[in-house]
Amino acid sequence: MTEHSPPVTQASDGAAQRRPAGEADVIVVGAGPAGSTTAYYLAQAGLDVLLLEKSRFPREKVCGDGLTPRGVRALVAMGVSVSEQDGWVRNKGLRVIGAGKRMELPWPELSSYPGYGLVRPRTDLDQMLARRAQQAGARLLEGVTVTGPVLDDRTGRITGVAAKAADADGERTYRARVIVAADGNSSRLSVSMGLRKRDDRPLGVAVRTYYRSPRHDDDYLESWLDLWDGDRLLPGYGWIFGMGDGTSNVGLGLMNTSAAFGHTDYHGLLHKWLAGMPAEWGFTEENRTQPIRGAALPMGFNRTPHYYQGLLLAGDAGGMVNPFNGEGIAYAMESGEILARTIAQALTRARRTETERVLAGYPRALNDAYGGYYAVGRAFVKAIGRPGLMRFATKHGMSRPALMGFVVKLLANLTDPGGDASDRLINGLSKLAPNPK
Ligand SMILES: Cc1cc2nc3c(=O)[nH]c(=O)nc-3n(C[C@H](O)[C@H](O)[C@H](O)COP(=O)(O)OP(=O)(O)OC[C@H]3O[C@@H](n4cnc5c(N)ncnc54)[C@H](O)[C@@H]3O)c2cc1C
Repeated sequence: MTEHSPPVTQASDGAAQRRPAGEADVIVVGAGPAGSTTAYYLAQAGLDVLLLEKSRFPREKVCGDGLTPRGVRALVAMGVSVSEQDGWVRNKGLRVIGAGKRMELPWPELSSYPGYGLVRPRTDLDQMLARRAQQAGARLLEGVTVTGPVLDDRTGRITGVAAKAADADGERTYRARVIVAADGNSSRLSVSMGLRKRDDRPLGVAVRTYYRSPRHDDDYLESWLDLWDGDRLLPGYGWIFGMGDGTSNVGLGLMNTSAAFGHTDYHGLLHKWLAGMPAEWGFTEENRTQPIRGAALPMGFNRTPHYYQGLLLAGDAGGMVNPFNGEGIAYAMESGEILARTIAQALTRARRTETERVLAGYPRALNDAYGGYYAVGRAFVKAIGRPGLMRFATKHGMSRPALMGFVVKLLANLTDPGGDASDRLINGLSKLAPNPK
C-alpha cells in the first residue's frame, strides 16, 4: 500500500467514474436495509459502489415488518413513496396490553418525525430499497455470496472480498478502497476480520409467522407485555401487526437477560400465548399461512469496533438494534447514511493518513447518535431480566396513561432536540448515562 492513494475522481456530470468490473470505490456486502441505504447515499455522493447480495430479490427476511415513525423518516429521506396507494399500511401508534389492561398510545407529535408508522412485508421493502440504490447508480449483483476478505499481506487491511456467484463456477475477487459489512446479524465478514459479538451486550431472539385474521387492518401496532413461562414473567414481548392483506404478522421475542434464554421452546411459547386469544381473531393452525421462523436481534452495539482495518459495519452487522423495542430497520438505514457520508468525505482526502482519520470518525459519529441511548437501553434490558421488577413495572406503568406516553417516546427513541419536558428528560438521560466503549 502506498501512503498516497488517489482521491476519488468524479466525471464532470457528478457521476462516479466507473472502474473495471471487479473494482469499485466501495464494496457493500449485503443488500438489506443497511446495505442498500449505504449504497444509495454513496452513489448519490458520486462514488462507484458495488453492492453484493447473496440472495435474489424478492427474498424473505424474518421480521415483524413494522416501522415506527423513525423508520418512516428514513424511507422518506431516501425518496421512497410511502403513500397508502403504493401499498403501505399506516399505523397511528402502539397498543400495549399487560397486567390485565389495554392502552392505545398514539405516536408523539414531533417536528423531527412523522406522526405515523408503517407496515410492509420485507419481501417488498428490501427489494424497494435495493432498487433505490440501483437508481442512484450503485451496481447491485444478486446471487453473489461473499466468502471472505482479501487482505493486504503486509498490513492485514481489507482490500477486497472473495465471492461466489450462484450461476458461475469458482470464486472471484472484487477490490475496493473501503469495504462495508452490511451482511446482517451473523456478519461472517466481520467475524473473518476478528470482530465477534460481545457477550456483555444484549441479544434478543424472536420468532414470527403469519395468520389469516380479521385483525389484518389494525391501525395500531400491538404489543403484549405478559409472556409467561409457567409462573415466571419473561423479559420480552409478543406482537400482532396487521399486514392489510388479510393476514397479521404475529411473533414474540425474548432477551438474553432471561434465565429462560437459550432453553426456551419458542414455538411452544408462541402457541401457548396465542391459545389465550379470542377465537374470532383466527390465530389458529388452520389459518397459519407461513412456517414459524426465528432469528437473533443483536442490540445496543453488540459488535464493536465499528471501523477496523478498512472495514466499516452497518446495521445488524454492528449490533445496532434498539434494546428497548427490538426495532432494527430504522437503525440499519440511519447507520448506513452516517457511514456513507463518512466514506464520501474520507475518499476525497489525498493522503491515506487523512482518509484513515476520517474513517476512524465513524464509530464516534455512531456513538454520538446512539451511544448514550443504547447505554440506557442496556440498563433497561438488565433490569427487565429480573422478573419481579418486570412485573412491578408492567403493573404500575399500565395504570398510569401519562407515564405510558413518556414510555412510548423512550422505547421508540422519538424525541425532538430541545422538545418538551419528556423529550428533555430522555435526551438528558442519554447524555448522562455511563457509556463504556
Ligand atoms: C423475528 C424478528 C422480528 C423483527 N421485527 C422487526 C420489526 O418489526 N421492525 C424493525 O424495525 N426491525 C425488526 N427486526 C430487526 C430487523 O429485522 C433487522 O434489524 C434488520 O433487518 C437489519 O437490517 P440489515 O440490513 O442490517 O440486515 P439484514 O436485513 O439481515 O440484511 C443482510 C443482508 O445481507 C445478505 N448477506 C448475508 N451474508 C452475505 C454474504 N456472505 N454475501 C452477500 N450477502 C450476504 C443477506 O442475504 C441480507 O440480504 C426483527 C428481527 C427479527 C429476527
